[in-house]
Amino acid sequence: MKITVSVIKADIGSIGGHIQPSALLVETVRKTVADKGKKFLIDSYVGYTGDDIAILMTHTGGVLNEEVHKLAWDTFLAGTAVAKEQGLYGAGQDLLKDSFSGNVRGMGPAVAEMEFEERPSEPFLLFAADKTDPGAYNLPCYLAFADPMVSAGLILSPKVGAGFTFRIMDVEHTEGDRVIDLNAPEDLYDIAALLRDQERFVVESIRSRATGEIAASVSTTRLHNIAGKYTGKDDPVMLVRVQGNFPATGEVLSPYTIGHFVAGFMRGSHHGALMPVPKNTGTSFFDGPPIVSCLAFSVRNGRLTEPADPFDHPYWEYVRDRVSAKSEDLRRQGFFGPAMLPYSELEYGGIVERLKKMDQRFHVLVPREEIKA
Ligand code: MG
Repeated sequence: MKITVSVIKADIGSIGGHIQPSALLVETVRKTVADKGKKFLIDSYVGYTGDDIAILMTHTGGVLNEEVHKLAWDTFLAGTAVAKEQGLYGAGQDLLKDSFSGNVRGMGPAVAEMEFEERPSEPFLLFAADKTDPGAYNLPCYLAFADPMVSAGLILSPKVGAGFTFRIMDVEHTEGDRVIDLNAPEDLYDIAALLRDQERFVVESIRSRATGEIAASVSTTRLHNIAGKYTGKDDPVMLVRVQGNFPATGEVLSPYTIGHFVAGFMRGSHHGALMPVPKNTGTSFFDGPPIVSCLAFSVRNGRLTEPADPFDHPYWEYVRDRVSAKSEDLRRQGFFGPAMLPYSELEYGGIVERLKKMDQRFHVLVPREEIKA
């Protein structure tokens, strides 16, 4: 059976600042999706990571399906009404447009989707991150799909070892989706040269070279590109199919032991180490840290199992301690150097006004011509 898996997520309000959505808000979203989606969704699941609510849906409508996207949009609107009633912080903050037009891309919510022919056993992972941006998945995708030091399947399984095609998007190009398709392993250095710049080049999707099947899909929205100003972080979601022709679940999870530094900590303006957390985890320290959750599902004829929660395991307690220590070390230098994002990433924030005001107070002590003379 050919099915579509869609995940659409947004921050539509949270308790006590940026911590987490209220129970009533999450319940409202869950009920609204179940009610309004009755006719055309096969199944759905609603959960949160930090202040973001993710709606996972299965259906047969294909990607960018208007009915499915409108359902998510209307659901977030219904949730926003509840968030406003409860006085939640940032009610409706990710809904950047006034009216729905076709699909939610470019309207604020993040979306990742894939359509595929179901395998007899179809396991997949849903990643949701908060306090970071889509480039946060660059390194884990590279390691899981292109590096045999992490992904043993690249050596041990002929189908996995056929390699993968990375579609990488230039997210600074706002006039349209500017992408390049590169093949691992031949184009490995080109892939690395792009993915190192996680604010500009972002993995959009990955396909198996053995079969052409879709393996991974990442949301690529950058909110400041839509709004023209800082409105919150982009907080990406990602879907990854695992096992068989794809890396094993554990190979896809493995890179998250690193706790790599990503952008998006405190006011979207600082770097922090990405911490793998159990489902429905809020934020805390310094409005963070940047967190990522992973839910593992199996699906049959579009019907989802309950999620398993691989980061809710004793192994990751040790990882979380180490990742906390990494963020803690960087935080000790406050706003200096790499602790805070470079000016190019802050250009939509209040610091622009501050620098503008100071600009007229700068003066040149001795002009260069006078020194020469
Ligand atoms: Mg968020």
